[in-house]
Amino acid sequence: MIADLQQLEKDALAELKEAGAEDSILAIRTKYLGRKGLLTSLLRNIAQVPIDEKPLFGKRCNEVKELLETKIEEALKSQAQNKKEEILARDKIDVTLPGRGVRPGRVHPVVQIRREICDIFASFGFSVVEGPEVEWDYYNFEALNIPQDHPARDMQDTFYIEDNMVLRTHTSPVQVRIMEKVNPPVRILSPGRVYRPDSDVSHTPMFHQIEGLLVDQGISFADLKGILTAFLKKVFGDDTLLRFRPSFFPFTEPSAEVDIRCVICRGKGCRVCGQSGWLEILGSGMVDPAVFKNVGYDVEVYSGFAFGLGLERIAMLKYGISDIRLLFENDIRFLKQF
Ligand SMILES: [Zn+2]
Repeated sequence: MIADLQQLEKDALAELKEAGAEDSILAIRTKYLGRKGLLTSLLRNIAQVPIDEKPLFGKRCNEVKELLETKIEEALKSQAQNKKEEILARDKIDVTLPGRGVRPGRVHPVVQIRREICDIFASFGFSVVEGPEVEWDYYNFEALNIPQDHPARDMQDTFYIEDNMVLRTHTSPVQVRIMEKVNPPVRILSPGRVYRPDSDVSHTPMFHQIEGLLVDQGISFADLKGILTAFLKKVFGDDTLLRFRPSFFPFTEPSAEVDIRCVICRGKGCRVCGQSGWLEILGSGMVDPAVFKNVGYDVEVYSGFAFGLGLERIAMLKYGISDIRLLFENDIRFLKQF
């Protein structure tokens, strides 16, 4: 029995030496000193020890028990200390390192332009409205006087969802939706995403347009000129020169493309303006009576004008960006310049 006790002491101390984590130290305590532990069982068998050896055996048992208790306590303490040091080392803060700094977010250049244009037209009394990007053929084409056989309906120019449903190719359908709901006077601005299957330095399959519409009694081309001139001077500066060129759109009559004197070369001719000295900036015109008829407006009483422009194009001209795709690549180094 004494021999068993010595072996037990040896084993327990060896195991304790190997044990690292708190869990394994506690397991050793249970294994030897627990209620069903090895030392406890040994003590329980004291009856089998010859009577003259009993005092010695009991004494040795207590010594081993005390020794193990002390060693286990020490092991737990040193383990806790190690853990603490480990955490301190891991979470050490080098107060001499330079700070990381906070990089504030920025508003995307296209959003900046959109907000600027919306603010300008709000000051002219226009309100901002939005419409769906997935649009019925009727609103995108038919109601805007673009008949079935019009080339703009070609599969190559339009993303079709179904036969009679498209990703809108312009923001103009919003005009129709609004005019169906409200009677004149109408003064709206409609910004939003539009889609066309194009991709090169000046086209992306998704881009942003703003559509404007003003309808009231006695609106003439002079009103169109006045509003658009005031608008473009606010965006590009008071010395901006404008040129109205006759054009064609199915939903306006007469129609005009509006150019501004090149903001890069100031009219001398450069690569950006194709040596012409002028930059095409937006399309406009008096609303075609056919469109008014589709929404039930009396063409004898009301007249109005509409215009549309691409936000990316304005952003590119205003900030001198040469490739439209840069606006969609989300390169922080590019975007943080604006
Ligand atoms: Zn130029």
